[in-house]
Amino acid sequence: AMAEAAAGSHPPPDVDSDECLREYGHLFSPDILAGQVAFITGGGSGIGFRIAEIFMRHGCRTVIASRNLQRVVEASKKLVAATGQQCLPLSIDVRQPQTIVAAVDEALREFKRIDILINGAAGNFLCPASALSFNAFKTVIDIDTIGTFNTSKVLFEKYFQDHGGVIVNITATLSYRGQALQVHAGTAKAAIDAMTRHLAVEWGRNNIRVNSLAPGPITGTEGYRRLGGKFAEEASQFDMIPLQRAGNKTEIAHSTLYLASPLSSYVTGTTLVVDGGSWLTAANNFPALLDFWAAGANKN
Ligand code: NAP
Repeated sequence: AMAEAAAGSHPPPDVDSDECLREYGHLFSPDILAGQVAFITGGGSGIGFRIAEIFMRHGCRTVIASRNLQRVVEASKKLVAATGQQCLPLSIDVRQPQTIVAAVDEALREFKRIDILINGAAGNFLCPASALSFNAFKTVIDIDTIGTFNTSKVLFEKYFQDHGGVIVNITATLSYRGQALQVHAGTAKAAIDAMTRHLAVEWGRNNIRVNSLAPGPITGTEGYRRLGGKFAEEASQFDMIPLQRAGNKTEIAHSTLYLASPLSSYVTGTTLVVDGGSWLTAANNFPALLDFWAAGANKN
């Protein structure tokens, strides 16, 4: 079955909930991240959870960090049970640098090293610019853009500066065509893609690689549930995507694994789009999305 999954564009198996995969067949070498440690913001749910799982299945220990301690504690139990690797759950708010400093200090006490930073923490919702409050716009920039800078800078100062490291920022394709109802997140993620290039230029000499990964619509995520994934599915909108389907969390985790691993040792300062070609052809119909938003269908 996995030989089939490895060919062309067949998706690997996934589950929609924040549970580990029931079975997993390795495509990459199972020890490609052996001995390494990854610090994953937003690692307690959705895409970040699956990245943690796939990394752990490749020999990596993880720190999963977000605001809700109970959520990351529960997630870490599942991850340890499924993979046999260590996972340290910690509470941070990426808007508050001192919480990141405390978490990185604790992670270094526990594991003595951090090799990989995944900036996955983010907030998003559908809203037309005309209805977006000043505070809502600012909050998304604070969490996504400034949070990514805060976390990257703390990791740089505490460890990467002297030991090298790899940073993968999870962004989006929203800004490429000015996606309707997404001015806040699109602006925030575009700024992160810019930050990726700036930091790659300045930190390359410290043996730090910095890249972005921009997912398309990904099933089994909060993003998919909140941003009209089901609606698009029912309206057969995924037929418009070149690969004719949404992606799954395992596919994002596999591409993140590539960017975090030595397979991408000469890759820095770039954005890897993992969207089945979606942004090239997907609908960006402002009146239709406005109707969908006004009907309140986006509120779960
Ligand atoms: P998700 O499960 O809601 O992931 C977001 C994570 O960020 C949560 O674990 C949340 O945990 C954490 N977080 C939010 N605010 C935080 C803060 N201030 N400090 C620390 N952690 C914070 O959603 P997802 O859909 O899997 O998205 C994961 C990433 O992929 C995001 O960067 C998103 O923009 C990106 N993305 C997703 C899609 C998609 O289709 N799903 C498409 C493009 C890009 P707490 O609530 O515990 O803090």
